[in-house]
Amino acid sequence: MQTSFTLAQLADPQTAEADKILRACVHCGFCTATCPTYVLLGDELDSPRGRIYLIKDMLEQARPATADVVKHIDRCLSCLACMTTCPSGVHYMHLVDHARHHIEQTYRRPLIDRMVRAMLAKLLPYPNRFRLSLQLARLGRPLAPVFEQIGLGSIAAMLRLVPSKPRQQGKTGPRVFSPQGPRRARVALLSGCVADVLAPTINAATIRLLVRHGVEVVLAKGEGCCGALVHHLGREREALGQARANIDAWMGEIEGEGLDAILITASGCGTMVKDYGFMLRMDADYASKAATISRLARDICEYLAGLELQPPTGPSGLTVAYHAACSLQHGQRVVREPAALLARAGFTVREVAEGHLCCGSAGTYNMLQPELARRLRDRKIANIDTIAPDVIAAGNVGCISQIASGTPRPVVHPVELIDWATGGPAPHGVPCVRLPAAPPSMVG
Ligand code: SF4
Ligand code: SF4
Repeated sequence: MQTSFTLAQLADPQTAEADKILRACVHCGFCTATCPTYVLLGDELDSPRGRIYLIKDMLEQARPATADVVKHIDRCLSCLACMTTCPSGVHYMHLVDHARHHIEQTYRRPLIDRMVRAMLAKLLPYPNRFRLSLQLARLGRPLAPVFEQIGLGSIAAMLRLVPSKPRQQGKTGPRVFSPQGPRRARVALLSGCVADVLAPTINAATIRLLVRHGVEVVLAKGEGCCGALVHHLGREREALGQARANIDAWMGEIEGEGLDAILITASGCGTMVKDYGFMLRMDADYASKAATISRLARDICEYLAGLELQPPTGPSGLTVAYHAACSLQHGQRVVREPAALLARAGFTVREVAEGHLCCGSAGTYNMLQPELARRLRDRKIANIDTIAPDVIAAGNVGCISQIASGTPRPVVHPVELIDWATGGPAPHGVPCVRLPAAPPSMVG
């Protein structure tokens, strides 16, 4: 694609990067077929190619974002299906991140939007605040239809996503978990923010599984939200601040007893941490440390695939529908490992039709774009229902909450099932049927 930035514009490294990305696009349109918003809405401006044109025009003209551009960029899930499909290697993620930052800098949203976005940015990344807000939201849950009726769909969507029962508190107890037997490796685990509140059982299962396999796990002092939640809201300064705090925390461990890997169980966060090297490439104090952290970052299933796991204590006989989180399959290109691990652990794994399409979670998307998110969720659940699985597995806490909000079937992280199969407790809500042994299988 031809671009017409001036030399003065190209002197800005962010604009130069956007120019490089735009020039890689040959406007073939292959990406439109796999874009969830284009599939739903059929509007070219809600496709990757359409958005690329809108961003190009906005940046070239160096003009403030318009309401129309904001509408179409806001509808983008950042699911990155377009990056998997694109034959030209267009780095849409960096382009749309830059566009979101530009929007945040130049566009004044309506008051309610500003309030909702500020509330999300100030609550979700901080577990104590988020925990408290969940308690309040639980009380307000019955009011969701009222908020819907008065046009406050985002508030209604937030209330509907609140789990009906509080979860046990995460991140208590020691911060270093010693391995059973000789130490094979030492890793840091990102305990995260939302995951720590909504699904502390995921990191608990991860720690049990790792220490049982000789891996020492440390929760580095000072680590917290990866920054993705505010990054996707265009709040670059806050995102970089959260990234730097994590880098400092993990560098402390690297320079101390050392780390073989930094493990992340929420794939949205993993995609972000793997991008720290790019995000901080121009920060003289952090560029090299950020690159080190990104190099060590691994999704939990990616790491487990390289670890010799104990044989399952007995096939569960359960059918698992594996939902591939977008940030895992498109963002990190971790595609085969989770399903293969589940099959090795004795489960019958079924992949979900239209697996490339997002479930509608996408960070804060299900609260900011509730209508599109609900349509995507219902489509996902309809595809899952054709399998009639005993349990659904997804490698991202956002997908787990989103899918669980629309189905009575249990939805868990693959690591919880693998932990169970190799000696851990059964995940909550999963039927504990242990049928006669059958050869592990994986059905595509
Ligand atoms: S598939 Fe890639 S090159 Fe083709 S229009 Fe989409 S982004 Fe551009
Ligand atoms: S990130 Fe997802 S929603 Fe956004 S343009 Fe790409 S495919 Fe479409």
